[in-house]
Amino acid sequence: MLTHTLGYPRIGAFREIKKACEGYWKGALDETALRSASLEEKQRRWRVQQEAGMDLVPCNDFSLYDHVQDMSFLLGVIPDRYKPLCQRLSDLDLYFAMCRGYQESGFDVTAMEMTKWFDTNYHYIVPEFTRNQDFHYYSRKCVEEFLEAKSFGVKEPKAVLIGPISYLLLGKEITEDFHRLDLIGSLLPVYMAVLEDLHHAGCMWVQFDEPFLVTDLDERTRKLYGEVYAALRQHFPDVHFLLAAYFDGFGDNLQTAVSLPVDTLHLDVVNGFYDLPSVFRSLSSEKNISLGIVDGRNIWINDVNESLGILGLAVKALGHDRVMVSSSCSLLHVPYDRQNEPDRGKLPDFLVPWLAFARQKLDEIRLLADLMGDDVSSDAFYGLAEHLKQLEKRKQSKLLRDGGVRAALDGLADQAAGRRQSIAERRILQQEWLNLPVLPTTMIGSLPQTAELRSLRKRYRDGQLSAEDYWSGVRVLITNAIRWQEAAGLDVLVHGEFERTDMVEFFGEHLEGVAFTGNGWVQSYGTRAVKPPIIYGDVSRKEAMTVELARFAQGLTKRPVKGMLTGPGTILKWSFVRNDQPLRETAMQVALALREEVLDLELAGIEVIQIDEPGIREGLPLKKADRESYLDWAVRAFLVCSGGVGPATQIHTHMCYADYADILDALIRMDADVLTIETARSDMEVLSEFAAAGYSGQLGPGIYDIHSPRIPSVAELKHQLEKALMHFSPRQIWVNPDCGLKTREWDEVVPAIENMVLAARKTRQLAGGNTLEEG
Ligand code: GLN
Ligand code: ZN
Repeated sequence: MLTHTLGYPRIGAFREIKKACEGYWKGALDETALRSASLEEKQRRWRVQQEAGMDLVPCNDFSLYDHVQDMSFLLGVIPDRYKPLCQRLSDLDLYFAMCRGYQESGFDVTAMEMTKWFDTNYHYIVPEFTRNQDFHYYSRKCVEEFLEAKSFGVKEPKAVLIGPISYLLLGKEITEDFHRLDLIGSLLPVYMAVLEDLHHAGCMWVQFDEPFLVTDLDERTRKLYGEVYAALRQHFPDVHFLLAAYFDGFGDNLQTAVSLPVDTLHLDVVNGFYDLPSVFRSLSSEKNISLGIVDGRNIWINDVNESLGILGLAVKALGHDRVMVSSSCSLLHVPYDRQNEPDRGKLPDFLVPWLAFARQKLDEIRLLADLMGDDVSSDAFYGLAEHLKQLEKRKQSKLLRDGGVRAALDGLADQAAGRRQSIAERRILQQEWLNLPVLPTTMIGSLPQTAELRSLRKRYRDGQLSAEDYWSGVRVLITNAIRWQEAAGLDVLVHGEFERTDMVEFFGEHLEGVAFTGNGWVQSYGTRAVKPPIIYGDVSRKEAMTVELARFAQGLTKRPVKGMLTGPGTILKWSFVRNDQPLRETAMQVALALREEVLDLELAGIEVIQIDEPGIREGLPLKKADRESYLDWAVRAFLVCSGGVGPATQIHTHMCYADYADILDALIRMDADVLTIETARSDMEVLSEFAAAGYSGQLGPGIYDIHSPRIPSVAELKHQLEKALMHFSPRQIWVNPDCGLKTREWDEVVPAIENMVLAARKTRQLAGGNTLEEG
């Protein structure tokens, strides 16, 4: 059985590539140095895979920023606004300019848009297409990397490309008069040229990633798949084509997928298990299957028993030689190596043997293939025994189960989780209680994380500062923030979140059942890497998490200060979650812990509590048919955490980075009193959809685009508000920025927020002052 992965992590086990790129941007490293750091990393990845016994080793899966952007560069898809830079900049600088924007010597070109890679937390750069899009073979990275792999001694490098249809579907049209799939005719010749080049260089294996094959497709697109791969096949009859789809099964596209003229079809067994019987039945005898049986997106060791069972069925159906063993998707989404965890790290010892990072997953792939062989070595038997032992230990572990949490959840199941009064009844009570003006102003939570704050944190971590001094430093920052907000005239204040580096990590650290790595970096976008928490056991609250600082902040002012929490959907989405129980159950446990926090905040006199759910939209399943059940538990989890408070306590939620149109109904069911959403870039379009859906709660459309250093003028902000008021009465609209302000500078935030307050005041006057009645 041949073994391989669909791709390997690339940010560097110790973030070497991040550091090299950032050094290059700062001018500390020249291009040659960056290239040699890259080559070193590529070679490390090849060596490790080859040594671990992978028969095929991917190349061109390395990237200095993003693999979709690499494809755009390969295919010459360079939007017009960067054209003037082509002459001025080296190819490398042009590449980075597209990723990051370019502001120098009279040029001011914005970066390309980024969006989430399917339902993962990885962000890719969205290709931009025009009606007469020109495609040409521009970057040689793909063939160069193949040759580098060859000369390094990789026996069978497998060139990885995003397939033509998925590449087009990943992009967007910049005018409305065509569909991007119409471009396939001019795109295909460039793919041919690239393949020609690879073929000449001696490449015998090409992996086409076509993840769109697991999404809902129309008949036209399915047909196009057949045509495109027939054309490629015809030109390259003797190159081995491996077609990879992942993150789900093929579902309704199964017939399309199995009939494509490729040599090997890759199936994500972890998420598309249900497809196996039909694939076994319909795959014609000249085709092989690559079984993505080792989870490329989560970090738990493989259930070898189950995997061997599946592989056995595959062998029975297809024969031993037609089956390959692989990771479900690229290993890009998991950290490098659990051996890199520091000895005295944060990761509890008992957890380590249950985890498989990329390096361990290679061993698992090899192990499974070896165990399926005729002649099983004693090493393989040992590997099997060790896996079975650890799986059993994990299953039996008392550390994963907490009877108290389970009992509390069962108790909750009987009573309705949500709030007792309707949103309209609550609005009246809250208005009496809070006495806010129409168009109340607020912010989303975080305030600038300045160098001063970072140094405070660092000195505390390094032991140079006592806990007492650190916390009094944080309190000074909070005090200043409250004073400033009062002076600026904001109505509902925030404490600024200075004590949090990350909105999920902060809560994870206060929850039982959640662990953290010391070095488990995963690329989020470009040079940004995150260390997702690991939710391994039953979750409960160790102690109150936010109450003390909330009480402190509220004690500084008569105006309401918002309590600020991260919601259950987001905590789950941005973590590695246990796979031994349904997500829904874990979500309810997190929700219950947050419910206790919400109630404690209420008890401490906090009248407005915001529960952020920016991750909820990302978790939406790829296929429409699976969405309702996801939204069902996501909404219930939100109701569990928010529903215990009295009617006068105002619950806010916040969302961003997404298109909400397709989850509007669920947002309404979440029953928050106030929903603040990112809209500054999308021009308030979503408000008409909320209005059409009959939304009766309050909405805070973000009117200040916090992703840009620009300071919006009062007139501009007022104009945005007026647009919002075309859809909703002034009683329903809040005035706030798009998102938290932690990435901005104070000298941007102060004038922007002051302008925002002024814009709200002016609009209030026009709308009839504070006495305005319901519209
Ligand atoms: N309250 C968080 C903040 O302001 C929300 C962040 C987010 O939506 N991503 O930082
Ligand atoms: Zn946000």
